[in-house]
Amino acid sequence: MSVIAYIPNQEGIIKKAGFELASYATALAENMGKEAIAVVLGPMAGDELEKLGKYGISKVMHDANPLFAQLDNRASAKALATAAAQAEVVVLAHNNEGKGVAPRLAVRLGAGYVSAVTGLPQSITPFLVNKVVFTGKAIGHAEILTAKKVLTLAYNSFGVHEKPVDVSVEAFDSGCSASDFVLNVQQTQKVTGKVLLSEAEIVVSGGRGMKSPENWKPIEELAELLGAATACSRPVSDEGWRPHSEHVGQTGKIIAPNLYFAFGISGAIQHLGGVSGSKVIVAVNKDPEAPIFEAADYGIVGDALKVLPEFIEAVKELKKG
Ligand SMILES: Cc1cc2nc3c(=O)[nH]c(=O)nc-3n(C[C@H](O)[C@H](O)[C@H](O)COP(=O)(O)OP(=O)(O)OC[C@H]3O[C@@H](n4cnc5c(N)ncnc54)[C@H](O)[C@@H]3O)c2cc1C
Repeated sequence: MSVIAYIPNQEGIIKKAGFELASYATALAENMGKEAIAVVLGPMAGDELEKLGKYGISKVMHDANPLFAQLDNRASAKALATAAAQAEVVVLAHNNEGKGVAPRLAVRLGAGYVSAVTGLPQSITPFLVNKVVFTGKAIGHAEILTAKKVLTLAYNSFGVHEKPVDVSVEAFDSGCSASDFVLNVQQTQKVTGKVLLSEAEIVVSGGRGMKSPENWKPIEELAELLGAATACSRPVSDEGWRPHSEHVGQTGKIIAPNLYFAFGISGAIQHLGGVSGSKVIVAVNKDPEAPIFEAADYGIVGDALKVLPEFIEAVKELKKG
């Protein structure tokens, strides 16, 4: 029996979320006295797969079938169920793909499923895990009663931990053929931001208080200076000021950067649901009663359009040393 991490294949690359999953599976396997195995679906170079050994993965099962690039949740669930025949726990990322594949996989395996787990189980027998509930406002405790278990891991909740081991990469035939792929992706529009929002350590975000899309120039400038990603509240993307890929919150992306800047954002509960996992929140709002100040670690009561240029100058000065 083993613990399996399903590693997201991002166009042949493993990103931070993949290494976090590998680290988590390794720690969980160690607690359970099991082996940590990774499964990768779709084309990926051998040296990329071997990077997983740095995070404690001793075996990588790789089905290189190019059809997996379609991200068809049904096919991925079928393939993972084959790989997980001998596994006790399968861990996936709590991203769009993980949220689509995990429940399907759980049905196939007859496994108990807990989504958005925040760390290692409190106990293995019984199998007790903590999970995010009410968009981050509370933590739930869940017990899985079945022999097989499927988990999705909330972003940035465990971290990336090195534990180098010898790794073997094995070709794996998941048994998926063309008829298992029922989707045909016709077109993909790429997000153009320089730093990927879900991976960013720093995020600079704006709300309706920024008044118009033209006023995003300083937000972008500050993000560029800090090596940060840009984000926004939902009305901002609904009004077409910013792309929907930048909208964070209950109905948008859930992020957990080290530093989150909120310029002209009220801090509605639906917004905070997507950002309250941030380690430090800095808010600028002209209304001292704005709810964002209750969530913020640092707050400035003022006009964001005036504070932003001053902020940018201060960062430039700091960078000059
Ligand atoms: C089911 C549901 C799901 C939702 N999901 C999301 C979600 O995922 N993400 C999300 O963000 N929202 C979501 N919402 C909407 C949410 O309830 C709020 O309406 C939204 O977050 C408000 O966005 P905002 O703070 O940018 O705008 P507003 O509520 O208009 O607030 C603007 C803020 O800017 C301040 N301000 C104005 N001018 C300035 C200035 N010059 N300088 C500084 N501050 C200024 C104001 O004081 C105010 O606090 C959802 C709502 C529902 C019902």
